[in-house]
Amino acid sequence: MDFQQVFGKPPETQASAPGRVNLLGEHTDYNDGFVLPTAIPQSTTVQLGLSSDSHHHFYSENLNEQVSILDINHSPSGFASYIFGCIEVLQKAGYKIPSLCVYVKSSVPMGSGLSSSAALEVATLRALRQLLNLPIDDVEIAQFAQQAEIHYAGVQCGIMDQMASSLADTEHILFLDTRTLKRRVMPLPDNAEILVIDSGVPRTLATSGYNQRRAECEEAARSLGVKALRDITDVEVTEKLPEPLRRRARHVVTEDNRVLEVLQGVTSERFGELMNASHASLRDDYEVSVPPLDTLVELLQKTPGVFGARLTGAGFGGASVALVVAGEARSIATYVLEQYKQAGYNGQILVPSLELSDAA
Ligand code: ADP
Ligand code: MG
Repeated sequence: MDFQQVFGKPPETQASAPGRVNLLGEHTDYNDGFVLPTAIPQSTTVQLGLSSDSHHHFYSENLNEQVSILDINHSPSGFASYIFGCIEVLQKAGYKIPSLCVYVKSSVPMGSGLSSSAALEVATLRALRQLLNLPIDDVEIAQFAQQAEIHYAGVQCGIMDQMASSLADTEHILFLDTRTLKRRVMPLPDNAEILVIDSGVPRTLATSGYNQRRAECEEAARSLGVKALRDITDVEVTEKLPEPLRRRARHVVTEDNRVLEVLQGVTSERFGELMNASHASLRDDYEVSVPPLDTLVELLQKTPGVFGARLTGAGFGGASVALVVAGEARSIATYVLEQYKQAGYNGQILVPSLELSDAA
């Protein structure tokens, strides 16, 4: 069903926004640190039209689900909360938003850590900006999107996902200082492309593990007398902490330093080494990896054509990201997934998208 079939008339406007993957800078955002995400080829498209009654109507092609907002004082749940949140944060900022018909379709896998939620929010806000000529820039779009996710979808997220979706593209990586929002858009390393493979391991312990790591980092920062671990640049300083705080802090400080090294300009080979070092640090110091992810990352790291690989996202399952020689991602994925299967696991390629290439 397209917009016309659902709402009985064509849309007035549409906009798209991509999902994202974080290349370096993991578990640094809540320490006020540095991240390095890039956009992925999969994106979400939002089409808008004016509603002929006084209610908002949202339809998701992916879910084949329609939600009508009959009472704007009552926030919806599920996918509608993200769209309703975007409308409401704009209203609260003083923009008048009419009743809308909203149609969503997406090629970003949902709930796989590629940030389909940010893609949905940023696409919605871009479409609204276009429809209503709103004077908001791309950074404000990211900020409104984050507010929508926190206050309406109920997810305590940082700003990385929304900034990446709003400011990065598939040819560029976004360096972001999560404390100051200072940023720089940089080209992808030379002769390289991104490969994302899902480990097939659900992120079951992710929430409790994540909260525990956050608390440990706060405690480490307190012990060291700084506002956040981002304020420590010399890793020696972390040596005086008791375990496990010493290793947790060491991950954050070395990870921040790895991102800052990329900012100085590095080759693809060096970028890959930094990704490998990031994985070792996430595995040994931060302890957020699991054996299948370690196996997947090791298989990637020893495959010719791979500059470097690591787990991406919060860990405890989820996906790996690798920087590989341009044009070789698919063949590398086939080779690695076969060996991963022999090790007893079932992975799946997420980027480059098989679906998008079939459609092309
Ligand atoms: P991620 O952002 O990593 O994909 P999240 O749990 O943060 O995972 O966001 C996934 C949620 O976002 C989905 O459960 C759904 O509510 C919403 N969502 C994202 N894309 C769509 C879409 N195309 N149609 C409907 N809902 C979507
Ligand atoms: Mg999300």
